[in-house]
Order: sequence, then structure tokens, then C-alpha cells
Amino acid sequence: MSRCFLPRCAGLLAGLLLAACSAEPPVPAQARLVVLGFDGMDPVLTERWMDEGLLPEFSRLRDEGYYQRLATSNPPQSPVAWASFATGTGAGEHGIYDFLRRDPKTYQPDFSIARYTPPDDLINFAGWRVPMGEGVLENQRRGEPFWMAAEKQGRRATVQRVPVTYPPDPIQHMLSGMGVPDLRGTQGTYTLFSTRRMAAAENGGRVERVEMDDAGHIETHLEGPAHPLKTDTPALSVALRIVAEKDRATVTLGEETRVLKLGEWSDWWRVEFDYGLGSLPGMLRMRLLDGFPRPLLYVSPVQADPVESVLPISASPAYASELAERIGRYHTLGMPEETWSLNQGHLDEQGYLDMVKTTLAEGEAMLYDALSSNDSELVVKVFVQPDRVSHMFWRGMDPQHPLHAESSTLARGAVPWIYRESDRVLGEVRKRMRPEDRLIVLSDHGFSSFRRAAHVNRWLVDHGYLSLKAGKRESEPLFADIDWSRSRAYALGLNGLFLNLAGREAQGIVTTEQAQPLLDELVTGLTGWRDGEEAAVIQHVYRGLDLYQGPMAKDAPDLVLGYAPGYRASWQTTLGAVPRDLLEDNRQPWSGDHCIDPDAVPGVLFTSFVPDQPVENIASMAHMVLKHMPKGPTSP
Ligand SMILES: [Zn+2]
Repeated sequence: MSRCFLPRCAGLLAGLLLAACSAEPPVPAQARLVVLGFDGMDPVLTERWMDEGLLPEFSRLRDEGYYQRLATSNPPQSPVAWASFATGTGAGEHGIYDFLRRDPKTYQPDFSIARYTPPDDLINFAGWRVPMGEGVLENQRRGEPFWMAAEKQGRRATVQRVPVTYPPDPIQHMLSGMGVPDLRGTQGTYTLFSTRRMAAAENGGRVERVEMDDAGHIETHLEGPAHPLKTDTPALSVALRIVAEKDRATVTLGEETRVLKLGEWSDWWRVEFDYGLGSLPGMLRMRLLDGFPRPLLYVSPVQADPVESVLPISASPAYASELAERIGRYHTLGMPEETWSLNQGHLDEQGYLDMVKTTLAEGEAMLYDALSSNDSELVVKVFVQPDRVSHMFWRGMDPQHPLHAESSTLARGAVPWIYRESDRVLGEVRKRMRPEDRLIVLSDHGFSSFRRAAHVNRWLVDHGYLSLKAGKRESEPLFADIDWSRSRAYALGLNGLFLNLAGREAQGIVTTEQAQPLLDELVTGLTGWRDGEEAAVIQHVYRGLDLYQGPMAKDAPDLVLGYAPGYRASWQTTLGAVPRDLLEDNRQPWSGDHCIDPDAVPGVLFTSFVPDQPVENIASMAHMVLKHMPKGPTSP
């Protein structure tokens, strides 16, 4: 019985072909270049803590090798910056401008990294949907990443969990990072089973209200992926039984029963979603957040099991499972750190940090596996944990953050902790390197506080650039209440602003002649936006035409908003909503950010050797890597 998720077979088949091409036995490696990324590692904190002696491994690398601040991409968002890192190009060439991509025909956002196009010839019959060909799953990043160029030059590469690598590039070993969905096809949907009335999750999760009998028994089900072959039928699910006690619960999911202790993560729990003609295997973890009489059970997003992945998460396809055999199961979801559940109060701080510890340990295990395998001249690994901890716990370090005063001891210590952990990892990596190996350590951007949220679409409405439908004072997300026939500009995503351009947007009204004067007006207006008497909300507004050149420049935002430190686009802005206020205090745990003016959030760069000249920016890294690459077994 096939377990293959039919719409995704294309990637699997491509992977099998790749596997056949890369079956040569490893040759003992010569010198290696190890490239280590720490997402979001901030130079101000790093320099301060190196000077205070808190990061001895980073200090040693700086003293024995080289250190500089590294200019980031514009906008300074991880997918944009890591795509520039990989390809050595700007967004005008690689085409990744934001986490979200907007469709000018619908004004709606879509996830920017990977796109699946179903096959043209689908047979729809009596509710069944039978694809007669292969669909296409493609990474939206254009250009050639340096690991592909390195392999062309005879070096062998192992690349692990670098953002924007889904589906994987056809190299010796790649494990995909940010971009890998969960089994539902989302970027991570958790489920919180609750007997109490709770607000629905705004993003990234579901609250499932359940009934409990007097003995503490709950009978429910866990919702999984959509039926792969049938339309108009409920999502696949697995029976879930919870028997709650005060400090534990006996949980049965499918066929398996385990006892969960209060406040502890379970190990991986394998699950099969049966659809009649086969089943989709996945895996998840659980955490009992509260026991009887008001049990709360948190279930992580259901992700591909690396042992038998239904998604194309590695090159070769066998690499994911071979790795799991050596190091155990690991998170496969592109962004597994459960930021949204913590942000929405559906996961506790300790639970969040415990899961960050788990993903960090998994990342270390896979990197040390690569370093001990001796089969690559190029090893690239990104640790995203500094970014994920900084986003959620900046409030603990910034006395001016609206949540600082009420921050827990745990929140106050979290960012220093993840920097110390990064330092420890660096030390472990250096222990595993040979004298002839070279090391590059970098971050994609730095960090800043997110104290105030800017509702840019409200600003556009108030200044007459964006129009609400008659009788409306606000708009729901996705521009639900916008009158496009009277709108000239709109904001979507974390930094982008677009004109409602005739001939490009579906209901565009701005002519080509009107576009430039309108952009001038918007630049002046937005840079003049003040919070109270003095503070500028936006310190620089960039024009897309000035920033981006290349074949993908046509998709660029017309303006890119460089927020002043302390400010960021509100979540409502990112999704095209118009709330009542212009600005508001950010009172959510997601309290640090970097999607602001790139000048304010450079990253860091350390090397074990001294480069000929300072590195200009993150897009210069690909060139630098190729230049300092040792020779491979087959290179001339
Ligand atoms: Zn980030």
C-alpha cells in the first residue's frame, strides 16, 4: 500500500534520481571549510559579552582570526538574508523579498519560499481527485547557491537546515530548513486541547474545546492533513483519549498509550493518518500543561517523520532517514520553535525554552555527525535558536519594553543563555575541526526591541491613500473591507508597501505617470511619521527601484519601510488589516525583532583566517566561501 502523498511524489521521485547519482563511497576528506550560521546573533550584544568575558570561544576566534560586523539584506528578514547568503545576489535576482509574497491579481499573501503547482490533468470523479501526472514543488529562490557551485568544482557539500532550502538542492547531503511545512501544509499548526473556554488562536494553531466526564476521561481526535485524494471531506484524524489526573495524564493516540507527566515534553510520538488506500505517517510531541480538574494538553504540529518522510526534506532522499538512524528522530518542520503558541499564551515559557533546547541538541547532533563523516569539503549549518529566543524574550532585557517590568526571571535570563549556548556550540565545533580546516561564523542580521507596533495601513487610510468600503471604519485581515477602486497604496508583509498600479494590480488605479510623484509623496509622509512629539517611527523609506535589479525585480515592493529601532510593522499590517489605532504598545511575548532599517541590525562575521579585505555584506559571503574553499577530491 502506497504511503506516498500523491501530490508530493514529484519531489520524492526527483530525490530518488538524485540518490542514484550520488552513491559513490566517501573519499577521505581533505581540508574542510565549515560555515556556521547563528540566526539573529546581534553584534552589539556579542561585542559587549565578548568584552565582558562571557563568550570565550567567540573572543578566541576573533583574536586568533578575524571579526567584523556584517551588513544584512534589505529588508533584514531571515529568508531574504539567507537567500542572499546562498546565492551571492540581492532580492532582485533571487526573488525572496519577505516571508510573504503578494499576488497583485488578488492582493492576497502567500508563503514566499516554496510553491506547489498541482498537475494539470486531474480526474475529478464522484468526490475523488486522481492526479494523472506529477505536480511540481519548487523553491522560489532563484540563482545558484554556492554549495551547488562548489560541487560543480569537485567539492562535496553537506548543508543542514539553512533557511530557504525547501525542496532541497541536489547536492551530496542537504537537510532542508525554513520552508518545510507540516503535514497540514502549513508552516506549523499546533493543537491545544482544553476543557475550558479559551480565545481561538489568531495564528499558527487551533484551540480544541473538549468535554471531560467526572472521572477525568476525554474522548476526542487529533486533526491531521487533508485527504490526499478526496475533495469535500473532513481532514484525516486519529482518535485521542486523555485520562487526566492531578499531575499526569494517560494519553492514547491511535494505538499507543503513554503516561505524560505535568510540565514535561513527551518523546516523539509516531502517528499514522489512514485515508483508506494508504496512510500518511507523521510525528509529534505533547506537553501536559495542566492536570485534573482542568486539563490542558498541547500537541505540537504534526511533522514529517525523517525515518519515512512524506515530504522531500533531504538530498539524497535517504539522507534524512540515515541521519535519524544515527542521531535519533529530529524536528523536520522548517520553523519548529513554537513562537506562536508562546505568543498566544498557549505554551509556557519553560516549555518553549525546553523545546528550543531540544532543537539545539538535534542541530548539534547532526552537525557533529557531518563533521565526523569526513565526506565533505564544505559543511554548512545554521542554528536558528538565537533568533527564536531573542524574538520571544527581548522583553526581559529591554527596560523600555512594555512587558519588561512583568518579565519572569526565566525571560530575563533567556537571551544571555542562548548566547552562552552558541559559544559552547562554537567550542564543540572547533574541537572537532582539524588544523587545516577553515571556519566561517556569521549571522544574517542583528536584533532590536519591538516596543511599538505600527499600523501602516491605518496610516495610509488616514492620509487618503487607502480607502475603506462605505460605512467601514476598520478592515479585517486580507484587505477584506478595502475599496480598491479608490485606493492608491497598501502595505503587506513585514516591510513592503505597494502601489495599486493600473495594469499590474487587478483593480489598479495609479497610472505610470502618477506613480513617481505618488512615491515621492509617500516617502516624505512616511519618514515624517512621528510617535508623539519626537520619535520617528520609520527612519528610512527605500524605493524598490533603487534597491533591486535583476529578473525578479518586477515582484519587488515599490517601497521598503526601514522602521526605527523600537518599532515594527504590526501583525495586522503584515496581513493587510486596518485596525483603529495608528500605533500601539506591543504587549505580546514576541518582543524583539529585526525587520526594521537594515542599518540598525547588522549581523556578525568571524573567520579563522584573515580575509584580504572586509566583507561588504551578506550577499558577498557566497563569493568569499568559494574563494576560501579547500580543494576537493576531484577538483583540478
Ligand atoms: Zn527572526
